[in-house]
Order: sequence, then structure tokens, then C-alpha cells
Amino acid sequence: AKAAGRNTYQMFTKEMHTAARQRLAMENNLRSAITNDEFVLHYQPQVEAITGKVTGLEALVRWQSPEAGLVSPDLFISIAEESGLILEIGRHVFEMACDQAAKWKKAGVPFEKISVNLSARQLQQPELPEILSSIMASYGVEPGMIELEVTESMTMERPVESVRILGVLKSMGIDLAIDDFGTGYSSLSYLKLFPVDKLKIDRSFVKDIETDPDDAAIASATIAMAHSLGKKVVAEGVETAAQLEFLVQEGCDIIQGYFFSKPLSAEDAEAYLKKA
Ligand code: C2E
Ligand code: CA
Ligand code: CA
Ligand code: CA
Repeated sequence: AKAAGRNTYQMFTKEMHTAARQRLAMENNLRSAITNDEFVLHYQPQVEAITGKVTGLEALVRWQSPEAGLVSPDLFISIAEESGLILEIGRHVFEMACDQAAKWKKAGVPFEKISVNLSARQLQQPELPEILSSIMASYGVEPGMIELEVTESMTMERPVESVRILGVLKSMGIDLAIDDFGTGYSSLSYLKLFPVDKLKIDRSFVKDIETDPDDAAIASATIAMAHSLGKKVVAEGVETAAQLEFLVQEGCDIIQGYFFSKPLSAEDAEAYLKKA
């Protein structure tokens, strides 16, 4: 039994070493990705439910790795968060989004806003408003062209400080959305204090919305509550006509998901906006 225990222990530590090594390798790769400018943004259209008009686009980062190809953010965002590299990546993401917004405005490409995801670390940076406003100024981007998405759980890490920073961003004229709504454990009394314009219903509630009465109830209640607080609702991960129909019937304002479009390269997004 002792030997078996020791073997299990050795296996366990070996796995830990492997995980740690992979993590370190990823961290080093991300550092060189920053240096070599290997991050790109894809853009997913957000469609107004009633009119079918594209109102905004969510900017979603990808790492264009020379070896691995296009790498999904799910594979590197959490490591970037833990290592602190997310601050630099996040700033660069914001610059790319502003650059794109300015180019599209100048070229007369029709769109209202680009939505950018913030990480918890960025939200905890006291100088975040100054950083963002100086980037917007240097690209000639009006704050009204930008929306920021923060998740419920990251705002709840430091609720008082989050309310303050979000208030500053809001007063600058930037729209705010709570991402992945319903998956965190935000208290509804804090929600009242957050100066946000939109709630995004998480994809996990949309997925089985036609078959799971609980998910349907959560989605309907979120829409009703958001509206009575004067906020708009975006549903994410809408893939089917039936999901769309349910959400539209319940009064959901904006729809995002594969049903309309997957995230697109800047070039494809531009073509999509021009023909929309
Ligand atoms: P998220 O903010 O919840 O973004 C939505 C994710 O759902 C995106 O995955 C999008 O491609 C995917 N999606 C959209 N519509 C559908 C659909 O109809 N069906 C399905 N199955 N999926 C759909 P993506 O691009 O892989 O991004 C994953 C996550 O990575 C994001 O989740 C966000 O948390 C994070 N992320 C992406 N870009 C950034 C960024 O620039 N900064 C930060 N901090 N996080 C980012
Ligand atoms: Ca998001
Ligand atoms: Ca989400
Ligand atoms: Ca998510």
C-alpha cells in the first residue's frame, strides 16, 4: 500500500510538473507573441432583434501563432491573467479595436459600436480610465463608438472599487455591458449600483432554451428585470431560429450568435457590415 501510495504521489507530482512546464511555456510564448505583434481581433456582429440591423460588433482576440495557427482565447486568456500579461495584451486589444473603429468610420462602413472584453486585472487597474481615454484620443475615436464588457464575477471581486471605476468609464461616455450574466453570483442589490447599459445573457442559458423550462424562465426573468432597470439585453450564443424566436418574443433587444454570424476577420466583418 505504501508503494502504491508513493507511485500515486510520484505520478501526481509528475503531472504537476508537466502542467507547470506547459504553463511556463505558454507564458513565454505569449511574451514573444506580444513582442512579435501576433494578436488579431475577430468581430462578431450583434443584431438588433426587431429591425435586424447590425448595431455592434464584439471584438474577440485570437493569437495568430506561426507554429500553431489561430489559437483560441480560451487557451491563453487565463494564463495571461495569472501572469499579468493580460494588462499588455488587453491594452493592445483596445488599440486594435480603436484603430479598426476609426478606419471603418472614416471609410463610411456602417456600424455603431465595437464591444471590447475587459479582464479582471484591467478592471482593478486604477489608471484604466486614463489608459483607455488616451488610446481613444490617439486614434480619434469617440467614446460612444466603444462598449466595454465586464463579467459579473470580476465585478464582484471588488464590488466597491468596480462600481467606482465603471462610474468613471461611464462618465467618459463609454457604454458598459455585464457579460456572462447569470453565471456569477452577483447580488441584485449591487447590480442596481453598477452603471451598466446592457446585460448579456450567457450562452449556457440560451443553449437549451426551447427544451429546458428553467433556462427559459431565467432568460425571461433576466429580460424583464433588465428592462425594468432601464437596461438592454443581449443574448449570446444564439444558433437556431427557434432560440431566436423565443428570445424575440420575450423582448430581448440584441442577438449575437452563429445564427447570424460566427466571429469574422476584420475584412469579412467589413463585407458583412456593407451588405447588412
Ligand atoms: P465571451 O466574451 O463570452 O465571448 C463569446 C464567445 O462565444 C466567443 O468565443 C464566441 O466566438 C463564442 N460564440 C459566439 N456565438 C456563439 C454561438 O452561437 N455558439 C457557440 N458555440 N459559441 C459562440 P471566443 O472568441 O473563443 O472567446 C472566448 C472567451 O475568451 C470570451 O468569452 C472572453 O471571455 C475571452 N476573450 C475573448 N477575447 C478577449 C479579449 O480581447 N480580452 C479578454 N480579457 N478576454 C477575451
Ligand atoms: Ca464577451
Ligand atoms: Ca459571454
Ligand atoms: Ca464566456
